[in-house]
Amino acid sequence: MLGWMRDLFPLHRAQTGVGVRKTLRYLQHHLPLEVHEVASGTTVFDWTIPEEWHIRDAFIADSKGQRIVDYRQCNLHVASNSQPVCQKLSYAELEPHLHWLTEPPSLDTVPYRTMFFRQEWGFCVSQRMLDRLKTDPAEKFTVVIDATFSPGSLSYGEAILPGQSRETILLYAHCCHPSLANDNLSGIVVATMLGKQLVKRAKQQPLRRTYRIVFAPATIGAITWLAANQADLPQVYAGLILTLLGSSGPFIYKKSRRGATVIDRAIEVLWRELDNQGRTIPFAPWGYDERQFGAPGFDLPVGCLMRTTPSEFSEYHTSADNLEKIQAQTLQETLKTLQQLLTILESNDLPVNQSPFGEPRLGPRGLYRPYGADDSLGRFQEAVLWILNLADGDHDLLDICQQGQLPWKLVSLAAEALRQQGLIKSVD
Ligand code: ZN
Repeated sequence: MLGWMRDLFPLHRAQTGVGVRKTLRYLQHHLPLEVHEVASGTTVFDWTIPEEWHIRDAFIADSKGQRIVDYRQCNLHVASNSQPVCQKLSYAELEPHLHWLTEPPSLDTVPYRTMFFRQEWGFCVSQRMLDRLKTDPAEKFTVVIDATFSPGSLSYGEAILPGQSRETILLYAHCCHPSLANDNLSGIVVATMLGKQLVKRAKQQPLRRTYRIVFAPATIGAITWLAANQADLPQVYAGLILTLLGSSGPFIYKKSRRGATVIDRAIEVLWRELDNQGRTIPFAPWGYDERQFGAPGFDLPVGCLMRTTPSEFSEYHTSADNLEKIQAQTLQETLKTLQQLLTILESNDLPVNQSPFGEPRLGPRGLYRPYGADDSLGRFQEAVLWILNLADGDHDLLDICQQGQLPWKLVSLAAEALRQQGLIKSVD
């Protein structure tokens, strides 16, 4: 995953254009990813797909021709989607177009800014560059952004891994940021690896639920995907936005809008399995694309998984969010936790008791541990009794697991034993 991040890091991803397309092509080597192109000018709900932005070069040079700010050194120097410009400007004229950090962690840290849906241009500079630009008020700088806007399309990628059921588990990562690592190359590579492993698993045993893994630009990309897939949205069983997953720290889950959907409850169970090393925060209608999936017209069971929040991540949207901060071990740990979550989601069920009039006889079915007997069945017996009691069609296995404070594995095993004995049936 770290190797993929290294390959993808230099590409200038933006809302549209070559950077996103190259990223998606790269991911196609690892996933059966279909790349969708939605033409500029297409209406998606309240939005319109913009023209494609192409950037070739940009710089601010002094009168000797020395580049003080150079896009070729770092693609964050140009605010994404900046209008083209070619002018000679003094510092005073240039300053309204400059962006810098007021409290930079170092003299060389550059902020990340965008001009999406704005007819403006801007340069992002470090404190060191700002000091140089300010030195001589009489200096005239050559200011160039060699960029064009032209009709084209917005690209997003999607891998659909069909399961036995149309109930869908959605994994979503935004892919519109240029050279930033944790936000959100980390989410892109983790989603890709999860998908790659699911593809491998599906070759041995069919997937129970359908998986859709989506890579799209933030906001307009999510809205575009939602517009294109409106008919399928009722099938979304659980979904996660994956972002900021490469920095070490406890997992943070931001709930779905409704707050008690399958994904919210699966995470509760997962946190208990991980000895409460994860943290849950409430839904709020800002942040990442959980707010699009959680818009009232959709209200989907989609939350967001992170290992830091944007406000707690001091490198957020700056050049300090680079590969140096990402460790292979952290990515691996993230992957493992997500695998554990998918196991839970994959085996969750809504059981209905087929013998609900009193406790069915468990002894003849090998499911009863007499009083005073040794504890060889352990908490398995408890799991059996909880499932039978709560299998009324209103409680799924996640509810049962939580109410009985039982390990997930035990609940799945007990459910399987009860299913084999015909004592419960699963309903969709
Ligand atoms: Zn971001």
